[in-house]
Amino acid sequence: MRVINFNAGPAGLPLPALEQARDELLDFQKTGMSIMEHSHRGATYEAVHDEAIALLGELLGIPSTHTVVFVQGGASLQFGLIPMNFLPKGKSADYVVTGVWGEKAISEAKYLGEVSTAWAPADGKFVRVPKPDEIKWDPNAAYAHTTSNNTIYGTQFHTLPDPGAVPHICDMSSDFLWRPIDVSRFAFIYAGAQKNIGPSGVVVVVANKEFLAKRRTDIPKIFQYQTHVENNSLYNTPNTWGIYLCRNVLQLMKKQGGLKAMESKNQEKASLLYGALDRLNGFYKAPVEKASRSVMNIVFRLPSEGLEDKFVSEAKKANMIGLKGHRSAGGIRVSAYNAVSVEDIKALVSFMEVFSKANG
Ligand SMILES: *Cc1c(COP(=O)(O)O)cnc(C)c1O
Repeated sequence: MRVINFNAGPAGLPLPALEQARDELLDFQKTGMSIMEHSHRGATYEAVHDEAIALLGELLGIPSTHTVVFVQGGASLQFGLIPMNFLPKGKSADYVVTGVWGEKAISEAKYLGEVSTAWAPADGKFVRVPKPDEIKWDPNAAYAHTTSNNTIYGTQFHTLPDPGAVPHICDMSSDFLWRPIDVSRFAFIYAGAQKNIGPSGVVVVVANKEFLAKRRTDIPKIFQYQTHVENNSLYNTPNTWGIYLCRNVLQLMKKQGGLKAMESKNQEKASLLYGALDRLNGFYKAPVEKASRSVMNIVFRLPSEGLEDKFVSEAKKANMIGLKGHRSAGGIRVSAYNAVSVEDIKALVSFMEVFSKANG
């Protein structure tokens, strides 16, 4: 039996995408082998690869100024590769630090050049994202880096800040494809696949072609995004199985109505859950300021850590897993990515109601 999966990442994948992978596992389209066993230079794999790229283009409405690149090493490797490529000597890069991932991104960049914190919470508490006028942009920065959704703290930009003429780089790992976005606003978007798109080991980059081409060339070729652009993400062997699974998920997203449909489903889930938290707020406490509440990762506390442990273990008995907060933050975290259904959230809300009555 499948569990109701609220894992933060790797996260649950939509069942039809997994069933398709199961059905095709041993014999992909009558080729007598798995897609994993195909050469990445062969027509069979290339069709899958190109379809995944085309589906991303279609779902996001990617303009011709931008391109899709598949890279490896997780979002964390990009924390190092981005400044290697785009932070030249004599320039500084701006970072808006709204959580642990933003902290990691800026600290990796410090190894390579000048950085500036355009915003970080004065009290060190990540319970909100900044308002536009609180951010101190450097108009001469090489780029400005933001994190659209803070997976650990459950905060999210509902409108991403605008660094003006400075190229905007955004880590969208935990809310990529949750709704439509205007890709043209960004120089470079990146997202680890394991939250909303597929399995771990694949990173999707959507970036402006001119920005990519203006990279530093005094770094190894393999580290230059442009190398992967010029080779259609086939410079070396990509994660073929991972990209295949992403393709299945993207196909399904398209069939289900694309990103507009994802958005309305995700909004419905979030309003059910935050509605319950507000209704039961004598028992559950949501620490995030309302305007910064994440639609993807919903965090809350119970009256004691003992009750939080009990909540997690009783939820598990009710077939719901992945509810323990990140080890650095504690509490409860519900990750409600695209693959989580409205029914899953309704089941959780009923559980929360019963649990608060029994333990309140
Ligand atoms: C999960 C996550 C990362 C790290 O991803 P890895 O693939 O483990 O490197 C980075 N940024 C954000 C916003 C994340 O949610």
